[in-house]
Amino acid sequence: MELISGPDHRRDFAGMTYVYAVVSRRANGISIGVNLNPNNACNWRCIYCQVPGLVRGAPPAVDLDQLRWELRSMLTSLASQSVAARPSRIEDVAFSGNGESTLSPMFAPAVRVVRDVMREMDLHAAVKLRLITNGSRVLHAAVQEGLREIAAAGGEVWFKVDGGSRDAIRQINDVQLSPRRVGERLAVCASLVPTWVQTCVVAVDGVMPDECWLRDYLAVLDAAGTGRLRGVLLTVLRDRRNSRRREG
Ligand code: SF4
Repeated sequence: MELISGPDHRRDFAGMTYVYAVVSRRANGISIGVNLNPNNACNWRCIYCQVPGLVRGAPPAVDLDQLRWELRSMLTSLASQSVAARPSRIEDVAFSGNGESTLSPMFAPAVRVVRDVMREMDLHAAVKLRLITNGSRVLHAAVQEGLREIAAAGGEVWFKVDGGSRDAIRQINDVQLSPRRVGERLAVCASLVPTWVQTCVVAVDGVMPDECWLRDYLAVLDAAGTGRLRGVLLTVLRDRRNSRRREG
């Protein structure tokens, strides 16, 4: 089986709708991705987003039987390869799709399906269950149900925080959102499930964020309670052109 590598964001690889495998620097091995957004729909529009044909909106209902079948097939296929043929070990099964996973009306049931398949294939102890999220839906009860399931399965969340002021959030994530709200959501998430902050520091048109950016950003983490957070996963993008401003 050929694996997607690097920044290739085709999720329909191997003819599957919901499941893909990628050689991931993020996860330091093979990451099995679960894409609940096959229609490329997200509620944000981040400046660095690599989803092809990204649209604003929500994903359709998930066919849970198909998700179960695809995940079993993918894991069975990887397990049947010789170790030499595999680039590295399976590090995680991550909800990381072509849009925000928690927008799916079937997010919590999908988490249960993934958890059950991992148990059935005896992977639950060695392979991490992860959600990579923009955090926009963590105050919803149905999403919190899914977060609790992830915690109970020994999993974790990577929660996106790319700025600590309204302007920074608008510039990077193209969404109107108060930093106070981000801090609240992050605190709630961290109270339910082990949570890492995932941050992309972006130099827009060659200009790196300044000390004010850093102060505002740290204020969001402080508001959430840094003692509750597992840590920060930092990526630096040194030159991202602000195409939205040019288009607008
Ligand atoms: S939250 Fe993720 S999928 Fe949505 S626009 Fe940002 S990077 Fe793309």
